[in-house]
Amino acid sequence: MMNHPENSEAYKGLTVNAGIEQPTSVSPYLVKRRHRPTLTVSDYVEGIRKGNITVLSQAVTLVESVRPEHQAIAQEVIEKCLPYAGNSVRIGISGVPGAGKSTSIDVFGLHVLQQGGKLAVLAIDPSSERSKGSILGDKTRMEKLSVHPSSFIRPSPSAGSLGGVARKTRETIILCEAAGFDKIFVETVGVGQSETAVHSMVDFFLLIQLAGTGDELQGIKRGIMEMADAIVINKADGDNVERAQLAATQFRSALHLFPPPESGWTPRVMTYSGFYNIGVAAIFDMIDEYFAFVRQNGYFRYRRNEQSKYWMYESINEQLRDSFYHNPLIAQMLEAQEERVLRAEITSFVAARQLLDTYYKELQHGTSKLHRANRD
Ligand code: GDP
Repeated sequence: MMNHPENSEAYKGLTVNAGIEQPTSVSPYLVKRRHRPTLTVSDYVEGIRKGNITVLSQAVTLVESVRPEHQAIAQEVIEKCLPYAGNSVRIGISGVPGAGKSTSIDVFGLHVLQQGGKLAVLAIDPSSERSKGSILGDKTRMEKLSVHPSSFIRPSPSAGSLGGVARKTRETIILCEAAGFDKIFVETVGVGQSETAVHSMVDFFLLIQLAGTGDELQGIKRGIMEMADAIVINKADGDNVERAQLAATQFRSALHLFPPPESGWTPRVMTYSGFYNIGVAAIFDMIDEYFAFVRQNGYFRYRRNEQSKYWMYESINEQLRDSFYHNPLIAQMLEAQEERVLRAEITSFVAARQLLDTYYKELQHGTSKLHRANRD
């Protein structure tokens, strides 16, 4: 009998049998199958161009990946998709949690899809880094839209700084456009910096607000209001209609105090109900009017060009920052320099100068080492 403690006299009546050895692995064929077949850059581009949603999703996953080998493929795919991108209307939609973004985007989406075409809903949520995965842009929040055959819904990328998250969303826009999506919604929580990021990649910025307790203008950052091409007051239904209209009047007079926007367009304030689908058509008629206006006066093209330039500089800034802070020597020195500044041994500027000098020297040294390695 097998030597097992429970086979002792005390456990009489029980017999523990010897177990069997686990086979070392399942069929090697199956193991191999478990790996996703690797697509080449041209597979991705071709799939995207054909509007293949599975391939598009996989490419977006590469864009979001932090692994250098994924990034390398992603950047090549983006570059090859670029000539087919740009042909869409990009609308930013912002509002505090509870303002009714998901309810509204569901209805807005179905409304714009009635005219044909394809809609991608993307999101930028800076908090997603902490919460490990964003709820913005989540399919389950947009019940009807998520099952529509012409929609593509993607939650916010979750890793990295706001700048990094925003860049990934911007790159995803390019892939979606190359896949034939001619309407793009970019959703964000209306609480701060992420609006600036969204504003830098959309043609139209829609701010969803609620009628509140009479002081609805409080708590909205002036900067966010200034970016809005339209402010729409949601939940104008039932006994809330009057309050929504009152809020609209207050927003209108507040907007008058801002300098006129560069586009020449006068930002509108409207009321609607996402839940009951009241006033939604009027909002999109107004947005159509905006696009006709800015295409005609040249602002549409101008703004897209400005955005392209902005992203070039953003990208440089991000990479320089990354390279600096990820440098092992710098990472080692930072804390000590910080302390020296706090002890008033050196000024902040001198500390910065010394760190940068070290970094430049490191860079030269590192580069020469790399050159040597290449030469040898
Ligand atoms: P989000 O957090 O901005 O995405 O907001 P949700 O779309 O989840 O909406 C928050 C709550 O407001 C939900 O309980 C919705 O049912 C409700 N809601 C959204 N739109 C409307 C509306 O037009 N009228 C009314 N009465 N309620 C609404």
